[in-house]
Amino acid sequence: MQTVNRIDPLRDAVSALRRDGKVALVPTMGALHEGHLTLVREARKRAAHVVASIFVNPRQFGAGEDLDAYPRQLAADSALLAAEGASLLWAPDAAAMYPAGYATNISVSGVSEGLCGAARPGHFDGVATVVCKLFNQVGPDLALFGEKDWQQLAVIRRMARDLDLFRPTVDDIIGVETVREADGLAMSSRNAYLTAEQRAAAPALPRAMRAAIAAIAAGAPVAEALVTLEQALLSGGFASVDYAMLCDADSLAPLAERGAGSARLLVAARIGRARLIDNMAA
Ligand code: AMP
Repeated sequence: MQTVNRIDPLRDAVSALRRDGKVALVPTMGALHEGHLTLVREARKRAAHVVASIFVNPRQFGAGEDLDAYPRQLAADSALLAAEGASLLWAPDAAAMYPAGYATNISVSGVSEGLCGAARPGHFDGVATVVCKLFNQVGPDLALFGEKDWQQLAVIRRMARDLDLFRPTVDDIIGVETVREADGLAMSSRNAYLTAEQRAAAPALPRAMRAAIAAIAAGAPVAEALVTLEQALLSGGFASVDYAMLCDADSLAPLAERGAGSARLLVAARIGRARLIDNMAA
């Protein structure tokens, strides 16, 4: 696996890979776990070569968020990616991504606005901007993202359609199902922030979500199921709940009733230093 941290060698390396067939991109912020590695494995099934990127993107962190604390372990991540058969690691620093004078922002309205967008102003502008740049830098045939970040996936799909970033007839932005620990907690680089006690309490999140989904399916009013979910988190060791909402799975519009279309339960809640997010089909 080759590692590059400047744009020119990146473009040369991708051109060489492209001779063998399709190139898939897996964007990450590093501190890799089985969730990320599952994306790489899925990418390998669909393309001749996998390019992984590692970039802790300052523009998607708000003031007072965990940019400085975010785990960084490039050497260990690089070994994991090589072992999974990635061909190229794109690991720019902030100056390579945003050179002096950088002034462009991509903002996706609608799907960006509620949920994490409301709780973290500017976050999805940062995500859309860096992912658009990664697409332009690497020029992949396809890109893979985790369903763990459901709203992020919706924002990226909207942006890619709106800005004609991929061939319009092909669905080349692939969502991969959330990979979970044995106790149900969604894998996340931020789980590293949890103390042993908080880690033991954290599976209350997926447990309360499954209970709410079952209650709604059994006919409980949505609002009542969501209140029960919040109470279960607050009594189960979580400090606060940013949101717990039933939404249309595609538009992310909030649903007051389950209805006939496809729905998703999305939750963000804080425990210790970590803000955990999760989502499930409902
Ligand atoms: P991050 O490094 O947190 O920005 O994540 C990089 C990519 O990995 C994103 O597309 C995430 O949605 C995806 N990802 C993170 N955690 C998981 C997980 N537990 N299961 C599947 N994909 C994940």
